Amino acid sequence: MSKKKLLLIHTGGTISMSEDESGAVKPEGDNPLMRHTPNLNDYADFIVETPFTLPSPHITPDHMLELKKLIEKYYLEQGIHGAVITHGTDTLEETAYFLDLTLRLSIPIVLTGAMRSSNEVGSDGLYNLISAVRVATSDEAFGKGVLVVLNDEIHTAVNVTKTHSSNVSTFQSPQYGPIGIVTKGGVLFHHTPKLDVKYSISQLSKNVAIIKAYAGMDSRLLSALANLNFDGVIIEALGQGNLPPATVEGIEALINNNIPVVLVSRCFNGITQDVYGYEGGGRDLKNKGVIFSNGLNGQKARLKLMIGLSQSDDPDYIASMFK
Ligand code: ASP
Repeated sequence: MSKKKLLLIHTGGTISMSEDESGAVKPEGDNPLMRHTPNLNDYADFIVETPFTLPSPHITPDHMLELKKLIEKYYLEQGIHGAVITHGTDTLEETAYFLDLTLRLSIPIVLTGAMRSSNEVGSDGLYNLISAVRVATSDEAFGKGVLVVLNDEIHTAVNVTKTHSSNVSTFQSPQYGPIGIVTKGGVLFHHTPKLDVKYSISQLSKNVAIIKAYAGMDSRLLSALANLNFDGVIIEALGQGNLPPATVEGIEALINNNIPVVLVSRCFNGITQDVYGYEGGGRDLKNKGVIFSNGLNGQKARLKLMIGLSQSDDPDYIASMFK
């Protein structure tokens, strides 16, 4: 059988960095992954692109949009069978989810990264890259949305999150788990994900802020946000979607300025619901026009709201996106 044609996109991150004598991890002149990648061509034929080389805290939604357009271009012009993206792990889940929301392709799109740079003992980059390539060439990966592959696990873009600052098993899908595993023998999927709606987008112009709720929080930050030209606000609320009573004034200021407010939970399991009827409780907030999300974390809800606001500012439309 002929080999599949994969687009391999390098964007930077620890996977393409090395450690120096002082112990600092940083990018080098050329990508060590490309120097030390044995037998990658056994798995597929590659087109390699490096649109930028950035640590992932430098990645913005505009870079994510650039990646989307690059994948679409190679799909249309070269008929690629899949794409693998190497990326810094800090914001990897955001790029994965952005692509999941905006790419209408059924070919496998797989993101991977590394927790240890190329010359560190136990470096996981090359292993993760080969695992990602194996998943991207698997017929079963077709039509499963954008996937994240590290440490022998296959996760969906929507559920995966970085859970540990340094451990190689950092990528987890709280509450749901991985949808497959990578073994020496093969790539095994054990769940079929439910795919999200796709959104057409060709440029980004909306700004959405994230703010975290805490005991004793008041309205100052929220009221300030109402006057800082943000188009929307995500609040990582308490529990099932509650806020301290002193924040209600700030919530009203945002809503009165037609700035949509979406609540996620600062708990990393579960969804938000309008259960509590006390001041600042979920029922009270919902009655004021706050939108409740369906289990996304704050950073993913932010991307979804940015994309949604670029389609329409109709509050019913925005609320429907988070059902
Ligand atoms: N700080 C690094 C980055 O996200 C971490 C990593 O790649 O693992 O670029």
